[in-house]
This record gives sequence, structure tokens and C-alpha cells, in this order.
Amino acid sequence: MKRLHGVIRSYAWGSHTVLAELTGRPSPSDRPEAELWLGAHPADPAHVDDAVSGVSLLDVISADPLGQLGAANAERFRGRLPFLLKVLAADEPLSLQAHPNAVQAREGFERENASGVPLDSPARNYKDDNHKPELVVALTKFEALAGFRDVRRTVALLRALGVAELNRCAEQLEAQTNSSGIRALFTQWITGDRHPATLIGGVVEGCRRYLSTMSDGADGEFAAEAQTALELGSRYPNDPGVLISLLLNRITLEPGEGLFLAAGNLHAYLRGAAVEIMANSDNVLRGGLTPKHVDVPELLNVLDFRPAPMPVLGADGVDPDLRRLYRTPEAEFELTRLKLDTSRDDGSSSAATLAAGDPRIVLCTAGSTVLSSQCDSLELSAGQSAWLPASNPAVTLAPAQQRAQVFVARSAPSDVDSPRRQGDCAHMHSTNLDN
Ligand SMILES: [Zn+2]
Repeated sequence: MKRLHGVIRSYAWGSHTVLAELTGRPSPSDRPEAELWLGAHPADPAHVDDAVSGVSLLDVISADPLGQLGAANAERFRGRLPFLLKVLAADEPLSLQAHPNAVQAREGFERENASGVPLDSPARNYKDDNHKPELVVALTKFEALAGFRDVRRTVALLRALGVAELNRCAEQLEAQTNSSGIRALFTQWITGDRHPATLIGGVVEGCRRYLSTMSDGADGEFAAEAQTALELGSRYPNDPGVLISLLLNRITLEPGEGLFLAAGNLHAYLRGAAVEIMANSDNVLRGGLTPKHVDVPELLNVLDFRPAPMPVLGADGVDPDLRRLYRTPEAEFELTRLKLDTSRDDGSSSAATLAAGDPRIVLCTAGSTVLSSQCDSLELSAGQSAWLPASNPAVTLAPAQQRAQVFVARSAPSDVDSPRRQGDCAHMHSTNLDN
């Protein structure tokens, strides 16, 4: 096992304090720090500690795919680490976006290559040929918009704001309460029919009025939705994303809760810190709340307009406070959160074991933990991480002091009958386990 050094990316929406405090650097940071990348993405691979100087995890894997990934994973994922782990720290909303499925990504990448759009062009949609499903798990309270809301609830929200033009939109949705109705209204708004700038102004006014009519402490049914549209409207007064926010589920995750964004899911992270894991891709189609390129026809091609509530992940399991496996249908990644705590009377969470055979990234987000195998050991404090190649023997995790919170990332098991389906660290305590 090796210590892993991630790369911090600075975007305008990033936090000046979260990543600096997590990794024990002076806070606030000079620049906004948005994302800590822990993976082998060619754009910003993490580095592993070697005797003399760090080498890129991308190079380490390319030089020895069988040893680093294991034979089965090397074949299954074409010699590449299939996931990218990040810590996300948002002080301001990110753009409204969706990601393509695997077929769309492959076709889109080939199409843009064939038409000669340079890879670094701002007009480029497809930077690689891979899909990018993603899972986000809150470290702090984390707010987001994701997926189209049930139409009846959206109609109620549009009417609650008391804006004549929105009432007309509500009628239009009532006449077609399925994905086609949402698609029609979304298309009208994003293509700028019917003067959206005027409508955005009306919506912002409507939200302000709606919030002001609430008595102290008594939240209206749509207070969070109205507050979000109001904030987005003051930041992006001419952006149809403000209107589109009214169509999406408004979600608040508590620490430890997760949200899975499948291909085609329209989403925007609003604020908060989270651990995020995704297939190793950079393919983003934006839908607004950004000065960047928005390719409307391609976005319409990719979006899933089916209205549905977004399930919050993580509260199930035997002892979800100690161990949470965030199950998704994707092959590329699986994320488990562990709380290691020696102060529990029954000793049930004093240690956990990671079986040999899979490549993993282990990230400590609170306290400190000691990783030990028969050959070596490594201590990680909050904000630090480690690379465990497939050839590594089994590793035991224990808190260095009383408590630690740790995230373990790997690819999902391919064999449905395997005990690995139980997730990483299927048993806590000091029992050795094969998972
Ligand atoms: Zn996304």
C-alpha cells in the first residue's frame, strides 16, 4: 500500500475553508478550492509516494496493470482504474448538468473527433468515450437539485408562486402529466421561446413574495424550492436554468446520506461538502447556471425526462451508523463509509478488514486510522488517503486513537454470487473476512 496525494482543483464555486481544513493546511486558502481528485484520470492523476519522489497513479497502473488492478479487473476495465474518487467542496451552485450513457458517450466522442472539434475546445461535449454515472455522499449538509419532480407537485409549486405566465405553464403540464409534458416545457424554456428573461424576473419576484408571506418559523410547502430559485435568479438573471430549477427535486442530504445520478439525470449541486465517486470520465452536458457552452440539441438527446423522486441512499443495512454501503447499478465503482470506534462497549466497530484481490482507494475524512497488512502499515489522518493495489495482502483498518471515519472505494463485484456482493468490510470487528 502507498500513501496517495490527490490534486486540488480550483473553480470559482469552491470553498476557501473546507479542503484546507480537511487536509490540515492554512485556512482560508488563497484560491477557492472546489475538488480534491483521487484517482488516475489523465487530466489530473493523483501521485503515490515512492522512496524518492511521487509518481503518478496513472503511470503506476500503466506500468503494471495486472499487479495493480488484478487480472480480472485489468481485463474488465481495459487496463484502467475504472473510477475517480473526489472530495467536493461547494460554496456556490455548480452548473445544471447531465451525463451521457455509455452508447451516447462512445458515439458522441467519435462524432466530435470526426468533425475535428479539438479536445480542449470549449464547444466540445465529449472529452472521452466513457459514461459518467456518479454517486455523492454528504460530509456536511449537502443541497442539490436532481431529477424531474412528480408533475402534480410541480404544478402545485408553479401555482403557489402566483405568476400569471407560470399558471399558464402549469395548465400546459396538467394537460400532459408525463415525461413528454416535461420535455415540452423544458424545451420551451431552454430554447428561449416566450421571452424567458421577463419570465425569470417574474419568477424571482414570485419567489420573494411567496417567502415573505410566511410567518416566522412556519415554512411554506415550497420554501426551499422558492429560496433556491430566488438565489439562482439573483446570480443568473438571464439564465433559463432558474426556471428549470422549478422542475427538479430539491434535495437536502444529511451527513452520510448519498444520492446516485444515473445517465441522463439533470442535476445541480448547490452547496456543501461531499465525497463523490464516478466512472472515470469527464463528459458533461450543461443545461444552464453557467457562462460555459450549452449545447441544447445534444442535451435534449441525453436527458431522461421521466419524473420520479430521488431515493436517498445509506440509511439501510444492519448498522448503518457504523457501516454504509452505497449500492448502485454501476460496475465501475462501489463506495463504503466506515466509522471505526473503540469506545463502543461491544467492540463491534473497533476494526475492519479489506480482503486481498481488489484495487482500492482508502480516504480518511475524520479522526485517524492505521492500515496494516502482514508486510507494512500506514497511518492516515483526516484528509489523507492510500492506494491499495490488487496485489496487496489483506489490510486491517483500526482507529489510530478512539475514532475514525473512512471511505473505501473500489469497483463493484462482477460475480453476483460472490460474497463480495455484501460490500466492502462485510464484517466489522476484528474478524477476518473475505469480501
Ligand atoms: Zn454531475
